[in-house]
This record gives sequence, C-alpha cells and structure tokens, in this order.
Amino acid sequence: MFIGVDDTDSDKGLCTTYLAAVLMKRLEPLGNIRSPPKLIRLNPCARFKTRGNAAVAFELETDRPEEARETALQTVVEFSDLSGENTNPGLVAADKRTPEMKEFYQRAVKEILEICEAKEILDEHGVWYRGFKKGRGLIGALAAIGADLSDHTYELIAYRHKKNWGTPRKIDWDTVWDADRQTYPGTWDTVDSHNRRVVFAPHSSDPVLFGIRGDDIASIKRAFDIIRSEPVERRVLYLTNQGTDAHIIQGEIAGAIDDQSYRLTGRVIEAPRAIDGGHTFFSISDGDCSMACAAFEPTKNFRYIINKLAPGDLVEVYGAVRDGTLNIEKMNILELAELAVLEAPICPSCKRRMESAGKNQGYRCRRCKTKAQDRERKVQPRDLEDGFYEVPPCARRHLSKQLIRMKVPGAHPSR
Ligand code: ATP
Repeated sequence: MFIGVDDTDSDKGLCTTYLAAVLMKRLEPLGNIRSPPKLIRLNPCARFKTRGNAAVAFELETDRPEEARETALQTVVEFSDLSGENTNPGLVAADKRTPEMKEFYQRAVKEILEICEAKEILDEHGVWYRGFKKGRGLIGALAAIGADLSDHTYELIAYRHKKNWGTPRKIDWDTVWDADRQTYPGTWDTVDSHNRRVVFAPHSSDPVLFGIRGDDIASIKRAFDIIRSEPVERRVLYLTNQGTDAHIIQGEIAGAIDDQSYRLTGRVIEAPRAIDGGHTFFSISDGDCSMACAAFEPTKNFRYIINKLAPGDLVEVYGAVRDGTLNIEKMNILELAELAVLEAPICPSCKRRMESAGKNQGYRCRRCKTKAQDRERKVQPRDLEDGFYEVPPCARRHLSKQLIRMKVPGAHPSR
C-alpha cells in the first residue's frame, strides 16, 4: 500500500511531515514500513502552499489494509489544523504506483494543477482517497506517491516534544557549526558561512526542531550525533527530491510562463540596476524575446555577482518566473563580453598619453609634435569569472540543485 498525505498544516502550526512521522509509528503494528519515506517538494510557485510545498508518501506492506486506512484517516483528523483557511488535507492509499501517477508527479513539480486532475486519476484507477474541505491536498498526496526519484538526496528531520512547540528552540549553535565543518559536503545547507547564519532550523511554531540535509546518510547521522539540543521527540530520515532541480524546465524565453521554473539562455541586454529595497534587476534576450531577471534582497551576496554582469554577457539563468520576471536561483556565465573604453592614444615616441588637438582635430603630443586621428580602444579587465554561481544557503529554494552536487567545472559554490 502506498500512502500519501498533504496540506494538513497552517500558518499557526503543525506540519505534514510530523503527521506522517506519527502515522508511520502508529502503523508499525499493522505491517512493515519500507524506509525511507519520501519527502517530496512540489512546484514552489503553487499559490496555496504554507511554506515549502512539501508532501509525504511511504510504502506499507500489510495484510490489514482496512485497519491501516482507518488509522491513517484518524491521524489526519487528529493532526490537521482544519481551522486553517488554506488547510485542505488530502489522504491517498493506493495499491500500486502507476505510470500515470509518476507522470502526475512530474507535472506537479513543474506546473500548476487543479484538484480535479488528481481526482480524475484516483477515480480512474479506483484508488481509495479522502479529501477534507476542498481536498486540495490530494494533488500533493498523489504526486508524492507517484514521485520516482532518479536523482535524490536525504533529510533527517528531528521533531520537538509537544510541550516545547511555540517556544524558542534550544540548540547549541556552536555544535551546529562544528557538525557542518565535520560533515560538509556529505551534508549541506546546515549553515550559511558567508552570511553567518544557521539555516537548518525553522523559526515557526511547528513541531520541527531542525533538518539535516545531504547526500550521504552516514554524514547526516554523524552531524546529528554532534549537534546538542533540547530533547528530540522523534526523528525520521526521508528520501527527498530536494536539491535536484526537479522543478526546472529546459525552455526558451518565448515559451516561459508565470508560476513555472526554467533554465533559460540569453545575452544580457540591460546592465543590472538596483532598486529601493536592495533588489537587483537586469534583462536577457535570445535574439527573439527578452526576459527580466531579478536577484532579490534575500539573495544577499549573490547580488554582488549579478551587479558585475554587463551587456553582451552570455548567461544561463535558473529560476521561477513570477509576474514575467525570472527570480534567479542559479546562473551559469557562459561567455563574458569584452568591455572596452576609448581613450586618447599613446605617443609612439615618448609613450605618454596624447592630448586633444581641438574639436575634430584628433590628438597630438605637445612634446614630440606627433599626431594621431583616432582614439585607442582599451579593453577593461572584468572582475568576474565565467562558470556557475548560486544564491547562498540562506536564500536556497528547497528544490534547487546545489553547485556542490552538480560537480561541474568552473563552479563557485556558495556556503
Ligand atoms: P509545509 O511545507 O509546511 O508542509 P506546504 O508549503 O507544503 O506546507 P501545504 O499546506 O501542503 O503547504 O499546501 C500546498 C498545497 O498546494 C497542497 O494542497 C498541495 O496539494 C497543493 N499543490 C502542490 N503542488 C501543486 C501544484 N503543482 N499545483 C497546484 N497545487 C499544488
């Protein structure tokens, strides 16, 4: 049985991953849970998400399916914040994972879908499901079941005791920096060294204490052992699509639409300009169409790189399109344009710079009496290297593939 759940929490609290963690524990007497469960991030542009658009699915081997479904249903009712305006839980229990479900995941991570599209597949396959209120969570629940991860990473989430929910998290921050030092790059996005921030713990009142992300399970577990904190109520290691670029569509500027994420190639046609609030904008063109690109204030030091771009640079930008503007998550500078200035020529005899000989009269060297008509083209050094750049960990999108994972030459990982 494949169980998927989504959209159970609200701004006020709770968390779908916590509900799933409790549910897995409750299902233990009824069968065997194949680990690890999946923590699946879906289209980051989905309108009704609470935070990171996450859904959870796991596989249960059981000969008591009815009891399992009943337990799941009760747990969803108990651990959902049904009072939340945008909380519309969905619970799916499928006997098998079909190609249509896999395709549905591929669409849910890239496009915006309707609830009826999920229901259509569920009804067609005779799958057991329950939707609460609008039942929007059926989209995420079905997509999480369908997720077939060719590329994947892991996250170990530690949960808080209920009595601590809503209180400041007690974590020994020095041990977090230590854990990062000892386990990076087996783990990543625990801290943001450049911006001096710990980024692995939420600030909200939900049950998550922290999450350790990485490629290597042993490194993740080692980091967990190093970190000292308030007592952990339970912990779960999830298989995830985080850090895989699963949301990115290889596209052309002409076809790029709002609420989807793309990799687009073009030349910079407008130098970067900063606006109030510290946001930086520029535009690219592929010859036929142009696209505005933005590095917003939260992307911090990434904007320093963006500010060094110049018209003519050939770039590949990755990010979500919102209101016709691509919000950059990552950029590959393919080619740097030659920047040149025109200056008065050098005297061939004394090697000093010549002076203007008057309007439209070229240049002359007073000392040697040499003359020249045209100014000299002087190539300016570029304070920028080509290659990949990314936003720092404090601004990372869950789905963005970290440069440390991409293993491409000329990468400038941010940590
Ligand atoms: P958390 O990260 O705390 O679990 P969340 O950010 O995942 O919260 P949800 O409460 O799960 O937010 O709400 C997201 C809603 O968007 C869910 O109902 C989910 O089914 C739906 N959804 C997910 N992907 C898409 C999509 N591609 N198109 C339309 N709706 C989607």
